[in-house]
Amino acid sequence: MDNDGYVMTGTSFLLILPVLILFIVLVELNYEDTESEVQIMESEKILQVFQDLEFNIPRLTRQVLKEEAYFVISSKKPFIDVRKITRDNLQFKVDQITQNYDKCGLQVNCTVLSIKESDDPFEVELTSLVVVQKDNVSHQEILQQKISIIDPYDPLPDPLPFVKCNEYGGASINGSRIYYAHSLVLYLEQRGEKNGMVYENASSPLFINQCPYDPFVCHGDPVTMETLKNCLDNGFYHESNDGACYLCRLEGKNTCPHQGLEVFILPPPTNNQSDTAPCSVDHVLFGEGGEIYPGVSIQYHQEENLIFQLFLDDSHRKKYGLPLI
Ligand SMILES: [Zn+2]
Ligand SMILES: [Zn+2]
Repeated sequence: MDNDGYVMTGTSFLLILPVLILFIVLVELNYEDTESEVQIMESEKILQVFQDLEFNIPRLTRQVLKEEAYFVISSKKPFIDVRKITRDNLQFKVDQITQNYDKCGLQVNCTVLSIKESDDPFEVELTSLVVVQKDNVSHQEILQQKISIIDPYDPLPDPLPFVKCNEYGGASINGSRIYYAHSLVLYLEQRGEKNGMVYENASSPLFINQCPYDPFVCHGDPVTMETLKNCLDNGFYHESNDGACYLCRLEGKNTCPHQGLEVFILPPPTNNQSDTAPCSVDHVLFGEGGEIYPGVSIQYHQEENLIFQLFLDDSHRKKYGLPLI
C-alpha cells in the first residue's frame, strides 16, 4: 500500500513537472515584458524631450535675437560680443523650459554651447548639449541646429542703420521702413562724399525678408525693371559676400568675414535726376571713407515727373543682371 502510494506520487510529480516548468517560464516572460515596457515608455519620454527642445530652441533663439535687435535700436548701442550675450540670454530662456520637466520626474539639462553665423546668412548655427535623466536611464546628445532668422509672422528688424546714423540725428521707424531724414546726408558729408544729398529723406526696409528673385540676375528682366521694382517695393534682403551677417549687424558692423546680407537704400523719388551718387547698397553707404564708392543712376520707375532711381556700380549691376554703366 505504502509502496503503491509512493509510485503514485512519483508518477503524479512527473505529470505535473512540465506544467510547473511552463508556469515558471510564463511568469519570467511576463516579468521581462513589464520591464521592457517600462524601458520603452521611459525612452519614449526622453525622445519627447528632445523633440520639444528641437522645436522650442529655434523659436526662443529668434525671440532672443529680436529682443537684442530692439535693444540696439532703442539704445543705439551695438553689442561688443553678441555671440556670448546671445548664448547667455538664450540659456536663461531654455532653463525656464527645462525646469518644467522636474514635475514629470525627469531631470533635463540643456547647455547652450555656442551660437554663430551660418553659411546661409538667413540662418544662425546653434550647438547645445542636452542631458535627460529618468531614474537609472540617462541620455546625452549634442544638438546642432541651423536656425532660420526669417519669420514672416514675427520678422527680425535690421539694427545696423540705427547704430550708424545715431550721431547724425538718427533714423526712425515708420511701418515696415526705416527713414533717414537728414542723417545719411550728414554721415556721407562727414566722410567727404559728393552728391550725398540725394539721400535726404531716403528709406530702407526695417525687416529681414529674403528676396525670392533667385538667381539674382533675373532682377534685370524684363527691361522695364518690373522685377527690380517689385524687389525694392517689398524691401527684400539679399545674400552678399561683402555685407555683414545678422549677428555682426547687432555689433554695428557693415561688413564682416562671414557670408552676409545686403539691402538697397532708396533715395526718395525726385524730378531732378542726378547722374552719380554714392552706391545705394547698405554696406557701401555705411562704410568708412575708403569703403564708400560711387554708383550711376538706374531709373526703375516713373510717375508723371517723379523719377524713381537708385545708384549702382558695375559689380552690383552684374550681380543683379542690370544694364552695365
Ligand atoms: Zn531682390
Ligand atoms: Zn558676420
